[in-house]
Amino acid sequence: MNLAVKAVRELFPERDETRRLEVTYSGRFSSYNANVKYSSTYLQFSLSKSFLELSEEIRQGVIEHLLNKVYGTKRRSTNQDLYHAFMRNLSSVARIEEKDPYLLFRFKEINERYFNGLMTEPNLKWGKQAYRKLGHYEYASDTIVISSVFKPAAEDRKVEALLDFVLYHEMLHKKHQYDHKAERARHHTKAFKEDEQKWHDQKIEKKLSWYLGKKRLKRLLLDW
Ligand SMILES: [Zn+2]
Repeated sequence: MNLAVKAVRELFPERDETRRLEVTYSGRFSSYNANVKYSSTYLQFSLSKSFLELSEEIRQGVIEHLLNKVYGTKRRSTNQDLYHAFMRNLSSVARIEEKDPYLLFRFKEINERYFNGLMTEPNLKWGKQAYRKLGHYEYASDTIVISSVFKPAAEDRKVEALLDFVLYHEMLHKKHQYDHKAERARHHTKAFKEDEQKWHDQKIEKKLSWYLGKKRLKRLLLDW
């Protein structure tokens, strides 16, 4: 019996799940990532290969966690508790050290101004030149990744102000990561948004979209 079938039977015994249930392990994911794709005929759980090194209980916990998302439920289980405990532990003992000096410099300023210097330093690195995903926080490795669209920040104060806000947003993800243990998908909780509004510049989002629009246009012209 595959793990997804087992997970449905154990956590949702009353459900008559007739769709095909598949579990695959992929090397494309960053470590300890997982997702589920589904339609009227199948549910496909994709887990990163790193999960194969872990116990079957934890892997089943991941699938149960995803099933809760698909079904819109919040049913708890020991397997999910194990999975969450594992992820929490990973994040607090993340060993991979990768701190871009400039991003670390910005982190420290924001940490002083908005967190009384209390936030522990995450890994900080530049990501791809992305226009939509401006930044993200990988809780498994405690890493903040910032789009390279903001690389001019080191020479341009205006761009730096934009980068700071994106970084602040990701720092809030680090701060709020345990608010919704059972439901990490609900990233921007009410508490999160309240914190985000504490940013000193209320027009920051407008400025951001203006900057990105201009950059995108420039790229279009160059690509033409
Ligand atoms: Zn976010």
